Amino acid sequence: MPEPSPREVDLLITGAAEVLTCAADAPDLIGVTSGGVAIDAGAIAAVGDVSAWTGRQVVDAQGGVVLPGFVDAHTHVVFGGSRVEEYAARVAGVEPPAGASVGIVGTTTATRACGVAELVAQAAPRIAEMVAAGTTTLESKTGYGLQPEAELRLLEANRLLDAGTDAELVSTYLGAHAFPTDVAPGDYVDQILDQIPDVAAAGLAEFCDAYCDQGYFDLDQTRRILVRGVEHGLAPKLHLDAYSHTGAADLAIEVDAVSVDHLNFTTEPELRRLAEAGIVGVYMPCLDYAVAHPHPVQGRLLAESGMEIALATDVCPGCMVTNMQLAIAMACRSGGLSVAQAVRAATFGAARSLNRSDRIGSLEPGKQADLIVLDLPRHEDIAYRIGRNSVTTVVKSGTVLEETSW
Ligand SMILES: [Zn+2]
Repeated sequence: MPEPSPREVDLLITGAAEVLTCAADAPDLIGVTSGGVAIDAGAIAAVGDVSAWTGRQVVDAQGGVVLPGFVDAHTHVVFGGSRVEEYAARVAGVEPPAGASVGIVGTTTATRACGVAELVAQAAPRIAEMVAAGTTTLESKTGYGLQPEAELRLLEANRLLDAGTDAELVSTYLGAHAFPTDVAPGDYVDQILDQIPDVAAAGLAEFCDAYCDQGYFDLDQTRRILVRGVEHGLAPKLHLDAYSHTGAADLAIEVDAVSVDHLNFTTEPELRRLAEAGIVGVYMPCLDYAVAHPHPVQGRLLAESGMEIALATDVCPGCMVTNMQLAIAMACRSGGLSVAQAVRAATFGAARSLNRSDRIGSLEPGKQADLIVLDLPRHEDIAYRIGRNSVTTVVKSGTVLEETSW
C-alpha cells in the first residue's frame, strides 16, 4: 500500500518534548504525550504524533511544553483606580496615608468615576499581561460599581473587552459583591433583584455571583439573589467562607451552583458534599498571599475531597497577580497540590467552572485551538521556576497571536 499523502492544515505545532492534553479522563490528570498539535479552521485536528501532517504555518516548540491556554476562573479585572498606596502601607504594617484609595469603598469611588471607555482603557493592559502569560480565557466579575448604573457600565466594559482583546472574557454579574455605604442593605438587595432580569435580557452576563460571608450577604439574601439569577438563565456562583464559616456550601448545592470560590473556612464534610454534587471549587492561592490571609486555603484538602479544582489569579485591586504560572507555583508550594493537579486546575478544571469544558481547557480533536508553548523542558518546571513567564507562543482559536498585540 502506498503511504497516505500528508494532510495539510492551517497550523502545525511540532517539536514538543511534552504535549499536555489535560483531557477530562486523562489518568494522570494532564495526559502527558509528546509531538505536537495539528490545527485547522480554528479547531484541533490531531494531538501527539503529527508526523503525518503538514502545516501552511509551522511553529517549532523547540523541545518545550505545549498545553491548553490557561483559563483564569475568577477575576475582578475591570475596576477603576489603584490601591498601591494602601498595599505599600499594609506590607509595612502602617496605616495608609490620608486621601489614599482604601478598600472596596476606595475602589468603588474610583470605579463610579469612570465611564465605560475609561474602564476598558484601564483593564485592557491588565488583560494583555494575562494573555502574554498564557491566559486565553478569563472570567470577569462586576462588583465595584455597587449601584445599578455603575454595574451596568462594568458589564458593558466586559462585553467590549471580550470583543476587543485577544482573550475571551466570561461575564459574571456580581452586584452582590459588598454593600454600598450610601444605600441601606435591604434596599441594595432589592436593587440587585431588580437589575438581574435586565442584565439577563441584555445578554450581558452568563453567571450570577454573590459574596456570602459575615458582614456581606447572608444566606437568605444570597439565596434570593442566586435564585432570581437562575430564574432568568444566569448560572449561579458563590464567594463563600472567605473570612468566616457561613454554611453556604449547602446553599450552593441547593441552587446547583457551577462553582464555589474561596473556601477558606469550608469544612471537610462540606467539601465532600460539594464534590459529590459535582460543583467545582475555585482556588486562589495568590489572593491568600496578597492579603496575608490568616487562614489560607489548603489546596490539598480540596483535592482530597474529590472535587474538580479550578485555579484562578483573582486579579483585583487587592491582588494584582495576572500570571497563572505563578498561581500554579503557589498552589503547589503553598497549597500542597501536585504539579499535575495544579495544571489541570488551570486548564480543564477552570474551563469546567465556566461551563466551557466541552469547547476549551483540553487539547482534543474537535476542540477550539487555544494553546500555549512554554520554553520549559517539562511541565513540572512551571511550578519550579517561580515567578517566571515561560510563554513563547499563544494560539487563540487557531491564530498565533503577535507579541505586539499583547
Ligand atoms: Zn472574587
